[in-house]
Amino acid sequence: MAFKLPDLPYAHNALEPHIDEKTMQIHHGKHHNGYTNKLNAAIDGSDLSDKSIEDILANVSKHSGGVRNNGGGFYNHSLFWSVMSPKGGGAPSGDISDAINKAFGSFDGFKEAFSSAAKTRFGSGWAWLIVKADGSLAVTSTPNQDNPLMDIAEEKGTPILGLDVWEHAYYLNYQNRRPDYVGAFFNVINWEEVSKRYAAAK
Ligand code: MN
Repeated sequence: MAFKLPDLPYAHNALEPHIDEKTMQIHHGKHHNGYTNKLNAAIDGSDLSDKSIEDILANVSKHSGGVRNNGGGFYNHSLFWSVMSPKGGGAPSGDISDAINKAFGSFDGFKEAFSSAAKTRFGSGWAWLIVKADGSLAVTSTPNQDNPLMDIAEEKGTPILGLDVWEHAYYLNYQNRRPDYVGAFFNVINWEEVSKRYAAAK
């Protein structure tokens, strides 16, 4: 069974002015579509073709570089679209808010930790908010299309929020100003979705 590119849960221009329409069209329709097709080509006819993406990533050290890069790209972007919303932004509430305060002291403390991870990731990669095995939250970052589900990740956990800091995610609108893009991301975070993912992961 082949993996399928998920539809965007909103229009390409829905996240403007924070993320522009053209970037969303290329990012979803070309980049994410490319990872999906290449993942399918990499697992075609192998015993991975009936495995879940989470299962494949948890054992990624045993697989090819193509599975690692494109499996990560498929999973990471699927998560990324879902944790943004035109109705997003603001601050979380409920259990996720309590867990953030416990781990980072305050919502501002979390923002600072997450922004720093996103801004200081050298080259291409991702910043993450993860639920660790003990149920606590942590901020981490990974290079390229790696993620914290992978057995090769330095810090493992279940990602519940992710930010793509590859240049393809922001260059058309922000050029070299990655910090501006990172700041704008907080205006579109879908805390309802992050909260659901937290409840499922802990
Ligand atoms: Mn991307």
